[in-house]
Amino acid sequence: MLLKTFKGGIHPPGHKKLSRDKPFVNLSIPHRCYIPLQQHIGKPAVPLVEVDDIVEEGQMIGRADGFISANVHASIPGRVVEITDYPTVYSEHGQCVVIEAEGSFSSSGKNVESRNWEELSSDELMNLVHEAGITGMGGAAFPTAVKLSPPEHREIDTFVVNGAECEPYLTVDDMLMQTYPDEIIEGIRITLKILKINKAAIGIEKNKPEAIKAISKAIENGNFNETIELHPLPVKYPQGAEKQLIYTILKREVPSGELPLDVGVVVNNVGTIFAMREAVLFGKPLIERYLTVTGSIVKNPGNYKVRIGARITDIIEECGGLTGKPAKVIMGGPMCGLALNHMETSVVKGTSGVLILGQDEVAIHDYSPCIRCGRCVAACPMQLMPNELGNAVEKQRYDIAETLHPFDCIMCGSCTYVCPSKRPLSHFIKLAQVTFSAKR
Ligand code: SF4
Ligand code: SF4
Repeated sequence: MLLKTFKGGIHPPGHKKLSRDKPFVNLSIPHRCYIPLQQHIGKPAVPLVEVDDIVEEGQMIGRADGFISANVHASIPGRVVEITDYPTVYSEHGQCVVIEAEGSFSSSGKNVESRNWEELSSDELMNLVHEAGITGMGGAAFPTAVKLSPPEHREIDTFVVNGAECEPYLTVDDMLMQTYPDEIIEGIRITLKILKINKAAIGIEKNKPEAIKAISKAIENGNFNETIELHPLPVKYPQGAEKQLIYTILKREVPSGELPLDVGVVVNNVGTIFAMREAVLFGKPLIERYLTVTGSIVKNPGNYKVRIGARITDIIEECGGLTGKPAKVIMGGPMCGLALNHMETSVVKGTSGVLILGQDEVAIHDYSPCIRCGRCVAACPMQLMPNELGNAVEKQRYDIAETLHPFDCIMCGSCTYVCPSKRPLSHFIKLAQVTFSAKR
């Protein structure tokens, strides 16, 4: 019998009320932006500028290097003051172009005429997406133009749109769907034209009734021929993970080691679709994004529009500062996000949120041996054996770990969350992935 939703998963507290009703606010333009050349999965972009160059807002400053890479653009107009290694969310030392604001803005605040995208071919649309440096904005930052170019022999029939936003604390996608439902539907239609298919299905968790209402109205009132279905989804983490979303909506299982396109599906999240539409209609590169800044010690938690390259420390100040001492700063949400070592780290294309946890919200305890309770196995949405994988890595028995499919792990953190022995299971599995990747 087919299940209503995917196997496994957990129900962590949502913590979304801190920011869920806060409409978008534009944060001030930063005086300095630190723009990493590696903001995406794949090779870093190759710098196109030198120190002392004057750049315009939206000018390309890094060219995609090879097939899996993405262009990078200046998020503010100004002077390049440094091209240097700087801490980024992905690495302690990532090459960044540092721009100091100077001169005037060429597009912000101006009326830009929109293109009639329906007159463009699939290839022309794709090229606009590529030039604008669009990447996945739900966290993974995979170059979108690559994702929308499945190999010829793969037949795609459905575009699945991820509006689940199952990660606790984050509300940016919810607010995006409430604020810009018509734009998201238009972005979906552009994507369908690129993929040369006619059917999309958008999944939104049922705890976002306003977003469901807004998207449903936009579909109802829209005048188009494509089929766009809305699927309210059960609330369960990680509902927004690609394979889990595909199962819940289409009841198709993506086999171990395979990709959504192997079952005829391409998945994108609503933020990516919104940015793609802006790139196609207005030629706007990915130089700013919406995100959630949240946590009980943030003075004004909410949903904000921020320039790529703005530093976390400047963003926090703009949000009124903190009311307590931070214990942990996370880019993204608490389950899948990345803990930061430096408040100077800057926002990148994949930054869906900034979460600041106070001292009393971060439990610091040692872990103990596995008591074989099986909770991690029940919670794993990929039907892995996190307990066995953890034990093997801890004993450095990588020969055993290799047989337990570590690369199927989607790093959702559900196993770590439920473990009564507080074992850092997803960390162990990441270690196995890194070890095997280095050997390959
Ligand atoms: S982190 Fe990996 S092993 Fe743990 S529950 Fe998620 S998919 Fe399973
Ligand atoms: S949840 Fe923790 S204690 Fe229980 S089986 Fe998994 S690793 Fe062992």
